[in-house]
Amino acid sequence: MARPFTGTCRLCGVEGHPAAECPDKGPTICQNCLQEGHKATECEAARVIDTSGVPEMESAAAWNMLKAASDEKDIDDFKAVSDLHDLIISIGHENH
Ligand SMILES: [Zn+2]
Ligand SMILES: [Zn+2]
Repeated sequence: MARPFTGTCRLCGVEGHPAAECPDKGPTICQNCLQEGHKATECEAARVIDTSGVPEMESAAAWNMLKAASDEKDIDDFKAVSDLHDLIISIGHENH
């Protein structure tokens, strides 16, 4: 499923790794609780994402789908992540 990344990192300009895997990226900032050191998908704090009315599995599947899509395009800046965040919220409202 994973294919080798052959592009150039947008953060440090070095070929061979996407910005998502850049060693110069700095600490991971959780988009949920804004703490360093873990991703929103791994966050143990209360969810900011509104999953009320949405089955947990569906929400997780949607997130994984969007995450995979963003990986494909090498989009990993905070704006992209927050766009995904908004999209998941809108999906939740649609299914409400
Ligand atoms: Zn890099
Ligand atoms: Zn967190």
